[in-house]
Amino acid sequence: MAPKPPTLGKRRGKAVALLGIAHAAAKWPPNSATFGAPRRSVAFLGHMARALYTSRMLSVEQAQAEILGRGRVLPTERVDILAALGRVLAEPIRSTRRIPPWPNSSMDGYAVRAADARPSAILRVVDRVIAGSLPTHAVAAGEAVRIFTGAPMPAGADAVVPQEDVDARDGVIALRGAVEPGAYVRPAGEDVREGDLVLEAGRAIGAAEIGLLATLGRTQVTVGRRPRVAVLSTGNELADLGTEPTPAQIPNANTYSLMAQVVEAGGLPLNLGVAPDRLDAISERIARGLEADVLVSSAGVSVGELDLVREALVNAGAELHLWKVDMRPGKPITFGSIAGRPVFGLPGNPVSAMVTFELFVRPMLRAMQGRRAISRATITATALAPIINRGSRRGYLRVVLEARRGRWGARLTGEQGSGILRSMVSADGLAVVPGDTSIPIGDNVEVIVLREVST
Ligand code: AMP
Ligand code: MG
Repeated sequence: MAPKPPTLGKRRGKAVALLGIAHAAAKWPPNSATFGAPRRSVAFLGHMARALYTSRMLSVEQAQAEILGRGRVLPTERVDILAALGRVLAEPIRSTRRIPPWPNSSMDGYAVRAADARPSAILRVVDRVIAGSLPTHAVAAGEAVRIFTGAPMPAGADAVVPQEDVDARDGVIALRGAVEPGAYVRPAGEDVREGDLVLEAGRAIGAAEIGLLATLGRTQVTVGRRPRVAVLSTGNELADLGTEPTPAQIPNANTYSLMAQVVEAGGLPLNLGVAPDRLDAISERIARGLEADVLVSSAGVSVGELDLVREALVNAGAELHLWKVDMRPGKPITFGSIAGRPVFGLPGNPVSAMVTFELFVRPMLRAMQGRRAISRATITATALAPIINRGSRRGYLRVVLEARRGRWGARLTGEQGSGILRSMVSADGLAVVPGDTSIPIGDNVEVIVLREVST
């Protein structure tokens, strides 16, 4: 069961005291305009006081459960089977056919009765059947039918002798050895029987699934709708793609890495661009983002005076949860909902934004499509060099994976700073390391696999 979200509960007295402090803080300093600090609404400060007071350290798994507990599966749509690649099947597929429809040969050779097939037996060839045609003769005792791969077995025959195992001349064949009943015969329904449940709802559709759907004569299939995900970056220091950063600016990375992660998770990104650190600007973007199914913003969620994303979300009607999550990278994450729409306030550092997306947004987007398997695969790898987590929080450390004598080995990508985006570029996975833990060379480490690793 999902753990209960933090609530005020019996400690209401203390919270009321904090609200009082929030009131006072809203009025302080008396002439805040001279400080250039934005004045915050009493309601928002009350919200923050409550959130900070009630925020407790959650494990990543608890935070994930809280988030998923508030998700909903989107409606479905019908698409052509090729367009279903990478989508989530929303209907169980039962077979209306038997595949193959009849027993057929898996070799070029001769259809025979196994009982006749003794070494040096001579059989008369009475027919020839190729793929795409039907046999016209049954095989009687002492007879054989020339047959090719994929052609239906003639009645009476129960085995195929490959052509390289006979001596053929003048309409007869001489066998060289015995043949087992069923040899080189693919039975009817060997792949699919009529009525079989061949694909369950909730699975991702890949190339094999599309082949199977085609085999069953399906031109279209019902899949979960892709979630539309509005992506917002905030910060006065950000120059968006296409504009040259001023001397005081840095390029906007997060919009693009997060939109790409949305696509990888099966969603459709909506670019809300960059909002400067002004409440009106952020609020205007958030209002535009509400046409999407999910809102993901990055940066502006710390406790600095220019960290206005939470306030803008609350003003837009969000019920917010502020969590300290036992993880690094990733500061407290903000999650909530506006009119049933999940909203995420991710940290601004490019690696923190990507890793928190991985752990919290991606599973939600997959679940919204009706997907059953929402988590990445984890493997147990061997540390190829010491893997040290000096922090007290659980580390999600970027590692390279290497195949070593049939086992996976993992080594850190290098510096683990949360602003070092190049460490994500080289990361095949995230090693999950408990706080204050050193994993020596040769010890096992659990790794979340982020991408296909070629060997
Ligand atoms: P903040 O949470 O707003 O304090 O941002 C944390 C750090 O992330 C700061 O160094 C920001 O400059 C950086 N940052 C925030 N947003 C972005 C972005 N979209 N692209 C690159 N870096 C960013
Ligand atoms: Mg900022």
